[in-house]
Amino acid sequence: MKRRINVIRSPFTGFCFGVKRAMRLIEQGLAAHGVPIYTLGAVIHNPQEVERLRSRGVMPVNSVGELEKGAVLILRAHGVHPDFYREAKRLGIHLIDATCPFVQRSQKYVQRLLDESYRVIIIGDGTHPEVQSISGHAGDQAIIIETVEEARALEQLEKGGVVIQTTFSREKARQIIDILTSRIRDLRIYDTVCQATVLRREATLELAEDVDLMLVIGGRESSNTRRLYQMCVDAGIPARFIETADEIDPTWFDDCRTVGLTTGTSTPDWVIEDVLKRLDEISNEG
Ligand code: SF4
Repeated sequence: MKRRINVIRSPFTGFCFGVKRAMRLIEQGLAAHGVPIYTLGAVIHNPQEVERLRSRGVMPVNSVGELEKGAVLILRAHGVHPDFYREAKRLGIHLIDATCPFVQRSQKYVQRLLDESYRVIIIGDGTHPEVQSISGHAGDQAIIIETVEEARALEQLEKGGVVIQTTFSREKARQIIDILTSRIRDLRIYDTVCQATVLRREATLELAEDVDLMLVIGGRESSNTRRLYQMCVDAGIPARFIETADEIDPTWFDDCRTVGLTTGTSTPDWVIEDVLKRLDEISNEG
């Protein structure tokens, strides 16, 4: 007997604006400079796409010191510490800057806050490259807050200005800001949460109401993909987090008629197509 899995795809899947832009800059870099060109770390949090790029001569490096003078280096959408630009210039590295314009906007806000003598507060995950790059633009003096407990532990401040990691939960940021209002006399807030991630989360929750199982596709290191999955789990929605079609277990669909499909902002279309193909095969298996 056929399983007949009905798949509903979220209206927001695949690369976001910033990742599409980074990929376009890589293609332009390849066309203009040939191979190899380099990326600082993995250009996106998707190992399958990083491998595909590697096979085309786009090689990740961990530091600018690994490169020879004249090498072409793509900076990823998360941005980098300002010292990095100086160091690359000194070493004669040709940079192609794929920092997402929304991240650049946060970098400008922290510069403005510094100029106006506000203590910079970044709401986000301090280990995330984007937060580290913004912190660098704040002269490495920023206070980084990820939890309400950390917000409660903050000393009283006269002047403080907030920016938020673009992929952070706006709801969680709001809870933290509520606490900051009682800690900081003059509080300025820049809501820098990226609308691309907000729309994706809203669409995922809406879709999840109509399906038996959510499939969340994306890199395990991708914070926005992990958040989509966690959001489904927190809402009590059956969900599976996969990187590739190979991870799909057909038994997941034994009692399941309708599957919702959502992805992180760094999940390439070809991975999504592979998953759809696999679901189609399972649907037609006995
Ligand atoms: S999620 Fe938003 S901020 Fe991040 S790269 Fe994509 S468009 Fe830019």
